[in-house]
Amino acid sequence: MSGHQARLNAIAAVTNYKAGTPAFSFADSTPTELFGSNVFNDKVMRERLPKKVYKSLMRTIEQGEKLDPSVADVVATAMKDWAMSKGATHYTHVFYPLNGLTAEKHDGFLTPDGNGNVLAEFSGSQLIQGEPDASSFPSGGLRATFEARGYTAWDVTNPAYIIENPNGTFLCIPTAFVSWTGEALDKKTPLLRASQALNTQARRVLRLFGTDTGDRVVSYAGAEQEYFLIDRNFFFARPDLQLAGRTLLGSKPAKGQEFEDHYFGTVPRRVLAFMLEVEHELYKLGVPVKTRHNEVAPAQFEIAPVFEVSNLATDHNQIIMTSLKSIAKRYGMACLLHEKPFAGINGSGKHVNYSLGNSKLGSLFDPGDTPHENAQFLVFCAAMIRSVHKYGHLMRAVVASASNDHRLGANEAPPAIMSVYLGEQLTDVFEQIKNGGAKSCKKRGMLQVGVDTLPPLPMDAGDRNRTSPFAFTGNRFEFRAVGSNMSIAGPQVALNTMLAESLDYIATELEKTTGGDQSKLPEAVQCLLRDIITEHEAVIFNGDGYSDEWHKEAERRGLRNLPTSVQALPVLTAPEVVELFEKYGVFSRRELESRQSIYLEQYCRTIHTEAALVVKMARTQIFPAAVRYQSELAATCANMKAIGMDFVTHTLSDLTEKLRGLQQNTDALDALVNSHFESEIEEAAFMREKVLPAMEKVRSYADQLENIVADDLWPLPSYQEMLFIK
Ligand code: ADP
Ligand code: MG
Repeated sequence: MSGHQARLNAIAAVTNYKAGTPAFSFADSTPTELFGSNVFNDKVMRERLPKKVYKSLMRTIEQGEKLDPSVADVVATAMKDWAMSKGATHYTHVFYPLNGLTAEKHDGFLTPDGNGNVLAEFSGSQLIQGEPDASSFPSGGLRATFEARGYTAWDVTNPAYIIENPNGTFLCIPTAFVSWTGEALDKKTPLLRASQALNTQARRVLRLFGTDTGDRVVSYAGAEQEYFLIDRNFFFARPDLQLAGRTLLGSKPAKGQEFEDHYFGTVPRRVLAFMLEVEHELYKLGVPVKTRHNEVAPAQFEIAPVFEVSNLATDHNQIIMTSLKSIAKRYGMACLLHEKPFAGINGSGKHVNYSLGNSKLGSLFDPGDTPHENAQFLVFCAAMIRSVHKYGHLMRAVVASASNDHRLGANEAPPAIMSVYLGEQLTDVFEQIKNGGAKSCKKRGMLQVGVDTLPPLPMDAGDRNRTSPFAFTGNRFEFRAVGSNMSIAGPQVALNTMLAESLDYIATELEKTTGGDQSKLPEAVQCLLRDIITEHEAVIFNGDGYSDEWHKEAERRGLRNLPTSVQALPVLTAPEVVELFEKYGVFSRRELESRQSIYLEQYCRTIHTEAALVVKMARTQIFPAAVRYQSELAATCANMKAIGMDFVTHTLSDLTEKLRGLQQNTDALDALVNSHFESEIEEAAFMREKVLPAMEKVRSYADQLENIVADDLWPLPSYQEMLFIK
């Protein structure tokens, strides 16, 4: 399909779009009835499980007690009966391998009974453990293919659920994926380990303050998911979008996002129809989606759920991503989750709002109205500051990918330097602590709008800062460097473990200085906070993170700037990082090495694929289009000459020159693509330093040609079409 034809099809799709028969109706079941209706949740378990089994399971889910395997048979039968009552014929252990995707392998409930009939069966052991033949998932050397056993293990803490298809349904059981030696091959296992470590250390601190309620302390995440939607006709006409997820060529449209007329604008009709169905599906799965809006770039949108416990929020984010992709198709659109689908226009991130606490304590990052008197809050906040200062480079490493590199440090996302934004009020409180003790805090005022009919508004104690990678936002921190396409597990594994380490340090110090004497606590806390803030205040920055001055200032402060994944990924095996993860039982050295190796390999493969695609598109699409136009122009000149009129347009020489440039640079890129390397890191550096710039060169010629060649000959849908026909 030519670019021209794709445009006509897309225009037809948009203009003829009418919501046919609605996909669903809230008249059938209200949103409250619908919510969680496909989840094996607390309500279903209460109804279907014997009291003893239910209680035993809840102790594991809520208190983190060891799972009693003897309950598994009963739970499995109840789960199967419930699933079959909802039309399920199959079950699957859902897991999250290191390629960042969601994996599933389905097995039927039906088993022959030996007499020519079948029984529906699902045993406890089938619930607890699966062994997918999953030898093709990346293991980074943790498994050789000849010993490729990988097991999935039931994650009791997240509920099972049903996925619907027009022709049937199946039961999904969240699981962890480990090797036969117990090493983590997935994203979930480390998150569970890191959450356990955080609980242990946070509770030590709470005990010192006498506020431990006996309940588990968990970390929470609320992930704001950004995405692009374009018409599917464009998607299929762009090999780069199909294979690389982003446009590798394409000249900038005359209008991009400069007018800021898309952000929070009216949601287009077809897009809204899509959003409503996404939310409808997510409600059924118990995903608490809350917010929807247009984002900054044209054709960019956001969906955000209410925050949940880290493990559940992580699985739910995966479900959100797969739902966005599959449901977009039903509306004739493609959902792009890539971090930078269009050059020169904002990319997509995933702000991960992060806090810790539990239902009795609320957020331990909640300062209350008088933070200067809230010693416990100050301790948790100082712990976070200390952690970011010590392990900022790790935070950079866990958001590293070829695609996120296009975003970090560009003027749309936080820089690759990790710092903490605290806001005016808290910065002032910590300043006072440093100078001998906090006696007061800046009060939140009332905002006067100056119109009598409008109510006075309570003013937040601090303003927002959009340029900070890690910003305090009232009762949580917002980690803004995470990419839109990534699992949010990795970032939380890092945050939980880093924070556990600081809380461990703080608990140990306070236990030592107070010696169990509660009356000594205030003094001990004051001294410790003063020391921490003096040592780690360099990481606090409330200014403009996008500015050049900050880059210089950060360097003076000794903060590390790791602009690319090639620099960031080796941090995963830096001595202090290995020590951190090993100390808290989150990753072994081997597990870290495997991750570094897998992510470097993914980085190289991504760029290698992109480069090969650029070569192919340049040769088979751009070059032929330009040559056709060239011959048209040349023919015109010759014809004109024949009738005695001299017409030599400069377009022809321009075009010819650009064509030559395109060809030379494509050949040069092609030569680079087939290089060989000794090590992954050497290859990654080559990709970054040689291949990416060579791709850019080809692109610059292709994009110049796009601005010369006749529009009807151009083989690819343009930026303008993809972004504005919706
Ligand atoms: P904004 O775009 O203004 O940052 P949104 O409403 O889009 O805010 O998203 C904020 C996210 O932060 C939501 O997912 C919300 O549930 C989450 N959140 C709110 N409080 C907490 C908390 N204490 N811990 C973690 N996440 C939180
Ligand atoms: Mg938001």
